[in-house]
Order: sequence, then structure tokens, then C-alpha cells
Amino acid sequence: MDKNFDVIVIGGGPAGYVCAIRSAQLGFKTACIESRGTLGGTCLNVGCIPSKSLLNLSENYHKVQNEFNNLGIESSNVKLNLSKMMSNKNKSVLTLTKGVEYLFKKNKITYLKGKGSILSKNSVSVLDESKNKTNYKTKNVVISTGSIPSSLPGIKIDENNIVSSTGALSFNKVPKELIIIGGGYIGLEMGSVWKRLGSKVTVIEFLDHIIPGMDKDISNEFLKILIKQGINFKLNSKVTNVKVVKDKAIIDFTNNKSSKRERIECDKVLVAVGRKSNIGEDIVKLGIKLEKGKIKVNKKFETSIKGIYAVGDCIQLGPMLAHKAEDEGIAVAEIIAGQAGHVNYEVIPAVIYTSPEVAAVGKTEQELQKESIKYKIGKFPFLANSRAKVNNETEGFVKIIADDKTDKVLGVHIIGSHAGTMIAEMALAMEFGASSEDIARTCHAHPTHTEAVKEAALAVDKRPIHF
Ligand code: FAD
Repeated sequence: MDKNFDVIVIGGGPAGYVCAIRSAQLGFKTACIESRGTLGGTCLNVGCIPSKSLLNLSENYHKVQNEFNNLGIESSNVKLNLSKMMSNKNKSVLTLTKGVEYLFKKNKITYLKGKGSILSKNSVSVLDESKNKTNYKTKNVVISTGSIPSSLPGIKIDENNIVSSTGALSFNKVPKELIIIGGGYIGLEMGSVWKRLGSKVTVIEFLDHIIPGMDKDISNEFLKILIKQGINFKLNSKVTNVKVVKDKAIIDFTNNKSSKRERIECDKVLVAVGRKSNIGEDIVKLGIKLEKGKIKVNKKFETSIKGIYAVGDCIQLGPMLAHKAEDEGIAVAEIIAGQAGHVNYEVIPAVIYTSPEVAAVGKTEQELQKESIKYKIGKFPFLANSRAKVNNETEGFVKIIADDKTDKVLGVHIIGSHAGTMIAEMALAMEFGASSEDIARTCHAHPTHTEAVKEAALAVDKRPIHF
């Protein structure tokens, strides 16, 4: 095999595999190194895809059990077959990871299986499963080594009683009691899955609210809805110790305000306190500069060493999300080709795939207040949306924030069914610099949930029709 490449990408997750495909499309001789044994990274293997599979299946299970009988769809003796559910999830993961392999073949990308290490800006080694090391030459290196779960000091994840999201995606029986440390999106998605399948779920969160960084209006509404669904919350609480005794986990935590100490015993603890960049020894050895533990890149995604680029979860820019990683993968390939690759960090949608979904793009009210930017707000509840009403999906609302003077849309926050799909229209509107009036004057199909977006835009000018 020829060992000379134009671009070698280290890591085959959304940032890396997309970068490899775009590089090949641009005519570069491209290789992608992946150590996991399958392509697709965290997202396809142990992240977005398996979690969305379980969210979808558990939601269907919950609806058949709790909602359908009241709607005239009578069923009895509904049973959970967890191992079948897990097989279905695994099949979806396999189909998609194989799909990326097919795309590599189609685009004539060399897939190097093993652990990649950068030797210099023009050479990379790969250590394969049989411990054979092979060196390759390249004109450009792109690091896309992603991220790994974080823990708290003194808490050791064993993926048995104390698990990361990876363990929580593969329990072989429904835990009687599941404690989740961290009220971020991963914890709440996994909490929703296991609550629907029968666990007693308690979330312990250090802050006084869930989903840090989310618009407070949405965060408050989301908390109320999750409590109504039966998830318990211990907010303002600091976990001080987790230990395992005879296959039970014991969690000690202290209330930040009252200093009251509590202890809970459970079958499983999910540590969902965030993720950290995956920085290999080679990166440290080469002296590539880091910022707060992440690889520091400039606007062209170049690290402190010319010719070595980095994208995705491992860099300091933007949120740790798959679509951000993919867009950076495309942008860096185009930059290497001398084109104007670009990612607009002001318009990166974020979605939580619970029921109802939560989605946001742009600024929150709290951010605008901090930046002393004057704004106006339009809100519209799904209770007044006809499609949501007929579907019994009336929880939540759309909130549009527009500049007080120019009416330019600065942020959109949605909690409700299909919020994750609806946010795409808002991201597009913001990319085009739309005003709330532009959205209000755009004809939206009836009856759809998206009419709530139009109505929220009308509400910015205090003239909603149906509320
Ligand atoms: P990764 O996907 O982490 O890929 C990096 C790859 O590099 C890995 O496969 C790793 O094995 C490989 N690698 C590392 N070092 C080396 C080396 N030296 N040699 C060879 N290979 C190496 N994001 C969303 O946008 N939407 C979601 O719904 C969503 N849900 C999530 C749910 C969970 C439970 C988790 C954990 C994450 C979720 N994410 C979601 C986040 C998303 O998975 C990440 O943002 C995304 O995978 C980042 O892509 P990446 O390519 O930067 O890194």
C-alpha cells in the first residue's frame, strides 16, 4: 500500500469521517485512522444514535402502556423485552457504522484501523490490533480524537454499578433505582429512557437549575414537566462520595444552601457531569497548545503547529455536538484546499430529545442581559396550536427573542413535540439574518406545529392570532 497521503485524519467520529469524505471530494488522497474498530465515533457507537434509539423505543413503550388506552387504542398485557430493545438499538448502530465504511469505499478513502500517533507535522504512525506499527507520510494532519466522559474527584466509573453514558446505554435489566449525577442533556435523556422503562430515577444537580446555559424560561418549564413525569430532582446538591457495597451504590450528597447531608442507596449511578477532550500523549509530546484542556485552534482550525489541524469535540471552539463537529470537518477540508471553509458559532442549534423535546439556537435572555443588548420577546404556547391539540401534545411553547430596534432574530427557544425538527427553520432564518417580521410573514402549512413559530414571531409585535 502507498504510504503517502495529502490528508490523514486521526479519529473516525462525525468530525473525522466527514472531514475525510470532504477531503476526498476535493481530490485529496485521504486516510482516516480509527482505533475503536468501527467508524462513527462516540456519536454513532455510544452517543447520539444509540441514545435516540432507546429514547424512541422507550417512548413508544410508555405511550402504549399509559396513553393509548385512553385514546381508543386498547391493548393489554404489554410487556417489555429489554434484550430485544437493545438488539434493535445495536442493529441501528451497526447499520449506520457500516454505512460510513461504505462511504469511505465509495470515496476511495483509506481506512487505517488502529491507534494513530503524530510523529511530526508530516508523519503519523498507526499501531494496529496485533501491535504492529506502520508509519505514513502526509502533507496535512487533522486531529479529531473527540471526547471521553468526565467524572468527579474520587468517583471511579466501573461501568457496572457506577456507569458513564456508555454503561447506561446497555443495562441488561431495568435498574430498580437509578441515580443520575448531573442535570445536563445526557443525564436527562438517559433518565427519561429508564424512567419510562420502570426505574425510579433521581437526578442530583449541583446548580439550582437543570441544563446550564439554557434559557431560564425553558429550563423552568422543562423541570416542571420532568417532575410531572415522575423524575425526582435534588437541586443545589453536591455529591461528596459514591461507594459500592455488595452490588449497591451509596451516594452521599450535601445541600449547598442548608448544608443538610443526605444518603441514597441505588442499583446504578450514572455519572453525567460532562465530557472532556481526548488528548493523546502525542499531542502533549509535540507541545500542541491547549486551552482549558482542549486543543487550541485559530479560525482556520490550525493548531499551534502549522499543518496540523484539529476539529470536533477535542477543540476549544463551540459546543460538544455532532453537527458542530461535522461542519468543522467540512470547513477544515475546504480550508486545506484553499477555500473559505467557515462555521458560524452564533447559529448552532442544540436539541434535547426528551418528551417533549427541547431545542434552542442563538442567544438566551440571560446572555443578552449580560451583554446589555435590548430585546423583545414573542411567546406562543402549544396549547393554542391546533395540530398539537389534536395530537395531545400541548405541553411547552415557542419563544423568539428579537433585537429591540432592528427586529433581527437573536435567539429561539422551543420546548414541545418536534422542537428538534422545528429549530432547523429558525437556524436557517438566523443564518439569513431574518427579522421576526420575516418569519411572521412567511406562510406556514396548516395544521402543523410550525405554526406556533409563526405565531411566536407575530407575538414579538404583540399580534398573535390564536392566543
Ligand atoms: P468522537 O465522536 O468522540 O470521535 C472521536 C473518535 O476518535 C473516536 O471514535 C475515537 O475512538 C477515535 N480516536 C481517538 N483517539 C484516537 C487515536 N489516537 N487513533 C485513532 N482513533 C482515535 N451530539 C449531538 O449533536 N446530538 C446528540 O443527540 C448527542 N447525543 C449524545 C448522547 C451521548 C450519550 C453522548 C455521549 C454524546 C452525545 N452527543 C450528541 C455528542 C456527540 O456524540 C459528540 O459531540 C460527537 O461525537 C463529537 O464528534 P467527534 O468526531 O469530535 O468525536
